[in-house]
Amino acid sequence: MDKQYDLIVIGAGSGGVRAARVAANHGAKVAIVEEYRVGGTCVIRGCVPKKLFVYASRFSDMFEVAGSFGWTVDAQFDWPTLVANKDKEIARLEAAYVGALERAGVEIIRDRAVVTGPNGVKLVKGGRELSTRYILVATGGHPRIPHIPGRELGITSNEAFHLETLPHSILIEGGGYVAVEFATIFAGLGVDTTMIYRGDKILRGFDEDLRVGLEAGLQERGIRIIYQTNVRGLQKQGDDILVHFSDEVDAPFGAVMFATGREANSHGIGLAEVGVELHSGGAIKVDKYSQTTVPSIYAVGDVTGRAALTPVAVREGWYVAETLFNNNPLAVDHSQIGTAVFAEPEVGTIGLTETEAATHGDIDVFVTRFRPMINTLTSHPGRMILKLITEAEGDKVLGVHIIGPGAAEMIQLVAIAIGMGATKVDFDRTMAMHPTAGEELVTFKAPSYRYRGGAKV
Ligand code: NDP
Repeated sequence: MDKQYDLIVIGAGSGGVRAARVAANHGAKVAIVEEYRVGGTCVIRGCVPKKLFVYASRFSDMFEVAGSFGWTVDAQFDWPTLVANKDKEIARLEAAYVGALERAGVEIIRDRAVVTGPNGVKLVKGGRELSTRYILVATGGHPRIPHIPGRELGITSNEAFHLETLPHSILIEGGGYVAVEFATIFAGLGVDTTMIYRGDKILRGFDEDLRVGLEAGLQERGIRIIYQTNVRGLQKQGDDILVHFSDEVDAPFGAVMFATGREANSHGIGLAEVGVELHSGGAIKVDKYSQTTVPSIYAVGDVTGRAALTPVAVREGWYVAETLFNNNPLAVDHSQIGTAVFAEPEVGTIGLTETEAATHGDIDVFVTRFRPMINTLTSHPGRMILKLITEAEGDKVLGVHIIGPGAAEMIQLVAIAIGMGATKVDFDRTMAMHPTAGEELVTFKAPSYRYRGGAKV
């Protein structure tokens, strides 16, 4: 053994970096092993570059309404400029992550790590064996691509951030977060965009009003959505890709993107060999303290399959460090996690959907649909939806669902009230701010409809 550590973190993404920094700040001797770039999916090829691309794509909406506000705009878009500026910002963030780790005294090891025992890690390139009191696996996930002929011709979100040129058209398979966000991006940047989804409505698991509202919003933007169909195979056809669909139709596209979910990076790193148990889908089994079935090995973030969201991974990593090195056992509460989908229109949601809430007891549903003010001088048909679901008795707020401009920012703040157990009375007591969209949440009068005994009345 070359060295003795208190903690070796495998994977320098959101969860791993936070755990390493907090542990080091508590006096632990920490190394973090990363084979790619420091920052993980979120910083390098996820949330951050995605949101920058979403901003870029939204200019086209602004140009569309600009004329109604008296502007004449002659707009040109240059993809390489966007990619280069995005890369510069990602490099800056990566350097900031590295700096923060170094200032905390964490040793950064650029290598691939394999777990060799409850207290052992081997560096694949360097060949060194390291010993440690604890191991934290924070290796994240990767895009899942269906096993179909020609799959290598398609791209995933990983490659979408580095395309040399924008395709003239794109087919995106999937109906989840990544699919709708990238459909928004490509369509907004002028690419002829088609989505194909095996289900009958996008965003499975979200409140129905959000699903229907987003579908309408995407279609208004010119995005075609094909339901209950799969991609069966891909074939090169000149500069295009010929797609064979499950309904026997063939059609060419400039690019094909798979947004068909993600898988945990749990294989090939020695976990099964040392007795770390995995769920059937490959995610690592952990308890509420993120401890695996091997007591000295912990796991946080996407590799655990709990909630594949950066802030959740950060919290899990932080709490592991508190538990192990500050004598302060903390378990993350995964029950009230707000989430946003940065599509156009934007979606923000927290708590129970209407369908879920209706099975839990009697509820009141308050919902409003209107044209956001930015659209009122224009012919843009886009509508906003704000929805509040409360218990009928005690009127505790069970869910808030928003679609439209600023939905994510609104839900972030509503999440504080929900976490505090706010009731409809608390919302009503709050003075409205006018003119905002969010004021609708505190000015609802009678319920739009109710559920009694599970039935809508
Ligand atoms: P999702 O699970 O959200 O969506 C995957 C989609 O692919 C679903 O529509 C699924 O269909 C479909 N699908 C899965 N397997 C196949 C298959 N074999 N053939 C055809 N379709 C298939 O995954 P994403 O990759 O979009 O996102 C992963 C996670 O990352 C999210 O759950 C989220 O936690 C996080 N994320 C968060 C973002 C944010 O906070 N804004 C943005 C991006 C990602 P079905 O519905 O039928 O299962």
